[in-house]
Amino acid sequence: VYCKHQWGTDSRCVKCGTHRTEYEMQKGKVEFTSNLPVGCVGQFGSDEHIARVARHDRDGSTGGLIKSMMKHRHGSPFEFGHITFKCELPHFVIQQMLRHRIGVSFSQWSLRWEEAIAKAYLPPPERKLYPLDKDQKNVRANKYQEHTRAAYRDTMVVLSDVFNVTYSAYQQLLADGVSLEVARTVLPAAQVSIIHVSFNPRSLMHFLSLRIDSPDNRYESHPQWEVEQVARSFEEHFAHYWPLTYNAFYSNGRVAP
Ligand SMILES: Cc1cc2nc3c(=O)[nH]c(=O)nc-3n(C[C@H](O)[C@H](O)[C@H](O)COP(=O)(O)OP(=O)(O)OC[C@H]3O[C@@H](n4cnc5c(N)ncnc54)[C@H](O)[C@@H]3O)c2cc1C
Repeated sequence: VYCKHQWGTDSRCVKCGTHRTEYEMQKGKVEFTSNLPVGCVGQFGSDEHIARVARHDRDGSTGGLIKSMMKHRHGSPFEFGHITFKCELPHFVIQQMLRHRIGVSFSQWSLRWEEAIAKAYLPPPERKLYPLDKDQKNVRANKYQEHTRAAYRDTMVVLSDVFNVTYSAYQQLLADGVSLEVARTVLPAAQVSIIHVSFNPRSLMHFLSLRIDSPDNRYESHPQWEVEQVARSFEEHFAHYWPLTYNAFYSNGRVAP
């Protein structure tokens, strides 16, 4: 017997007590992913371009100039270049990215005009779940304990059940004629969405300095594991397109000029 409510996570509807619901019917329709895919969809500029801008076309070396500008924090020439990424990420990661305001542009899939895709993020088994510090004041990646397979599975059951329920509620609201912009308010932070983001080399270095926890960082940063995976993908593209700038950034303690 199916009811039209789906507010419980157990197998009984909490509204009418019916044994089980469209929530179960929806269950198979939601796709769960542990991927955080990022692709470069546009790029302009090079180390030579940065050096040419700094020298105003006069002759000279590129590598030496880049090293010197990085060391002395002559930062403006590093703003001449552009890279755009298309990312398919859960909302909680997108929210962290949106905090970067300077030299960064965003275009986000709006759930006011289109329906949310039935896709949610679940942490992969290698993503640690239990911090050693019970107060959670220090959640660096190396400050977590290992989890058992059973603990991982139990956690994933809770996360996926909640997502199934909320996505099902979302579908129900839309079926009842509620607007997309109101129905979306039930969606959780694991909801996967699409964002395009563009940086110049300077703003990208600033992002990488904050969102990657590296022993080579002059200033410590403790990013969340998921946003760090995204930053590491960005960093690969950065190293590919601006190798001299990337090396200078690295040798300079990974501080943006
Ligand atoms: C580990 C970590 C934990 C975080 N925790 C939280 C949190 O708990 N809560 C929270 O709200 N945010 C949090 N953030 C976000 C953080 O506060 C920054 O908003 C984010 O990292 C972007 O950094 P930014 O401001 O330097 O970058 P951008 O916004 O790109 O700015 C670049 C630079 O421009 C300058 N600048 C930009 N805006 C201003 C301004 N208004 N006035 C003066 N100078 C400016 C600064 O020099 C800044 O470094 C966290 C970030 C990290 C990495």
